[in-house]
Amino acid sequence: MIANKIDIEEPVAGKPHTGKVLAVIGPHSDDFSIFAAGTVIKLISEGYTGYFIRVTNDEMDSYDLSMGETVLANERDTQAVASIMGVKKVFDLNYRNHYLDEVPPTEIRNRLIFLFRLLQVDTVLGFDPWGHYEENPDHYAAAQAVEAACWMASGRLDLPEHFEAGLTPHGVTEKYYWARRSQMINKVVDISGVMERKIEALQANKTQIRNMALQLRDNLAKRNLTLPWFSADDSTIIKEYVDLVFRTADQRIGQQYGLDYAEVFHYIGPGEQSSKLTTSSMDQYLAENAIPLKK
Ligand SMILES: [Zn+2]
Repeated sequence: MIANKIDIEEPVAGKPHTGKVLAVIGPHSDDFSIFAAGTVIKLISEGYTGYFIRVTNDEMDSYDLSMGETVLANERDTQAVASIMGVKKVFDLNYRNHYLDEVPPTEIRNRLIFLFRLLQVDTVLGFDPWGHYEENPDHYAAAQAVEAACWMASGRLDLPEHFEAGLTPHGVTEKYYWARRSQMINKVVDISGVMERKIEALQANKTQIRNMALQLRDNLAKRNLTLPWFSADDSTIIKEYVDLVFRTADQRIGQQYGLDYAEVFHYIGPGEQSSKLTTSSMDQYLAENAIPLKK
């Protein structure tokens, strides 16, 4: 059962996560830098091997590029973000941007099950499939596929042809879910020590951040307003916008918990995978009755 208390995850010394694998599943390039970059940088620096799985091709997100140019620019930006965050490899599934909900859910799920087994993923980070008021179909379609794939990847009879190819059943046991709006939060990660690297990752999402910034400029212009830094070059505009929006957001979250900067999640850990109908009674029975297996 999911407890409703809040756990503060602080940095730990050394490499306690060595041998563990995480995958960040983002429908879009900027999802990797905005929501969990601090946590991912922290976990990788503590020993995790990290992968990105980018579900769409980001064809809809630029300010003044053609659709083809937009795909290439965002593909390159994602590689740059991954490199800054210490991620080993990016897998681009390349479904069409804003239309993920027209792809059969089982197709996305099966591709994720394959990758979870191939990479032996222990931990995922992605959109909360139970987050509320999410209007982007890519976000909720991907989230639901991730949730199901984490569970089904452990199935002996699910996609058995994988085992003929040398893979083994492998369930994902740890999940950090983020949401853009309302969700149940039970994990706060202190990212103060890695915030400047997160800022660097955000600035590397230059195509999408520039789009956000210049849309703000255009909206202000309709009210006959502007900001002084809108007359600067693109890299200055991106830097100022990242500080204005994303640094401030993580600072505000941190302040609520006595931290300089933080990211928040609905976290589901290894002890919370089973149904609430079985955990409490099963744990007690096993503690009282399980005996060493003779070899
Ligand atoms: Zn997104």
